Amino acid sequence: MSIGGNMSKKTKNTQRQVALIIVLIFLIITTSVGGFIFIKSELDKKNNNNNNNNQAEIEKEKAREVKRVELISKASLMVSGYYYEEAIELLKSNSDIYNDKMKSEVKKVEDFVADLEPYTGRIEQVFFHTLIVYPELAFGPNSSQPQGYNYWMTTQLEFQRMLPLLMEKGYVLIRISDLYDVDAQGNVTEKELYLPQGKRPLLMSVDNVGYPESRKKDGFASRLMIDDNNEITAVIRNPKGVEIVSRTAEIFPIVDDFIKAHPEFSYRGAKGMVGITGSWGVMGYDPKIASEAAIAKKIANRLKELGWDFVSHSYTHADGKYFSENSTLEGVKEDTELFKKWIVPIIGDSNVFIAPFGVTLKGELYQYMIDEGYTFYLTVDRRSQPKILGKSVLMPRINLDGFVMNRDKAYITEHFFDVDKVYDSRRPVFQ
Ligand SMILES: [Zn+2]
Repeated sequence: MSIGGNMSKKTKNTQRQVALIIVLIFLIITTSVGGFIFIKSELDKKNNNNNNNNQAEIEKEKAREVKRVELISKASLMVSGYYYEEAIELLKSNSDIYNDKMKSEVKKVEDFVADLEPYTGRIEQVFFHTLIVYPELAFGPNSSQPQGYNYWMTTQLEFQRMLPLLMEKGYVLIRISDLYDVDAQGNVTEKELYLPQGKRPLLMSVDNVGYPESRKKDGFASRLMIDDNNEITAVIRNPKGVEIVSRTAEIFPIVDDFIKAHPEFSYRGAKGMVGITGSWGVMGYDPKIASEAAIAKKIANRLKELGWDFVSHSYTHADGKYFSENSTLEGVKEDTELFKKWIVPIIGDSNVFIAPFGVTLKGELYQYMIDEGYTFYLTVDRRSQPKILGKSVLMPRINLDGFVMNRDKAYITEHFFDVDKVYDSRRPVFQ
């Protein structure tokens, strides 16, 4: 029985060992599963964080790229308007988004600027009067001077046709101050003007920007105004006698809108010179009525913001002792004093004088104008070029009107635009 006894002892031992192993296995399984679950959940947490971080970084980079694209497009608009330094500054302005792509954009502008050369060709200045908007009125039976309008005026349609042709020819509107420096003593020096190849500067002025009653009924604008978009717009009486607001009834809104669409037509925001004739009022407002003068001043300030410069076109715009072969110092003085009294408070000071009838004053009369601060003396002359005369510059201008398009057609076609593509067929026969 000892065997049996042994056997039974052996069996008991074996059973105990099995139980122990089972317990051990159970313990191992439970701890490792627990550990696994614990580790897994820790890993998951970490992954989630990583994913969140990656996602946030991707979003941030996306936002940075949006900003880059925005800046690059703004800068390229600046470059088309000849604001080179400003474009470079803008591209570099945000260190948070400055990367290789931005660097290469900066380099493009810098290389472009390095290639610019000072302009050395002719300096052209063209001028207009306020536009004929309704030829049927201007040239009609009730017009106050159909012949004069046919000679010295430009129609709205002609003006709108000229702008794209002038731009095609490479013309870019500039300011006189882009060509000359004037120091505190009044000394004038020429300045270098850097334009891209194929571009040429163009000065533009508009004479007699006032709207007397005769013009209002003859198909010209009646006045300028600031519209709801803070733009300068014209008010005009249509052929039915009804006043309407129009952005194509005068040079100013037409040019403003054209440059918005074609920034390359304006060098650093330059537009043109607004020549005010005192006795004609200021853009449709009477400078001697305080409430009207206040409106005119607001319009003038807004036009200046838009790039227009205000200049003197005399107070009287009269001949005889004022502006003619027989001008007298007394006449010129009287005129200038009236302009300074009534008009300068509205439009501000200017160093540009547009001579009525293009009369070039002589001797002490010319000197008087310089002494009064009018450094730039603008006349009418289709061939000559600006000339520095002592402390002044005599600047010729070309009238792009019916007279010149008829009498000097070949020259205008060669230098500015194909007259046949511009000329308004609604004009009466020229004679
Ligand atoms: Zn004039």
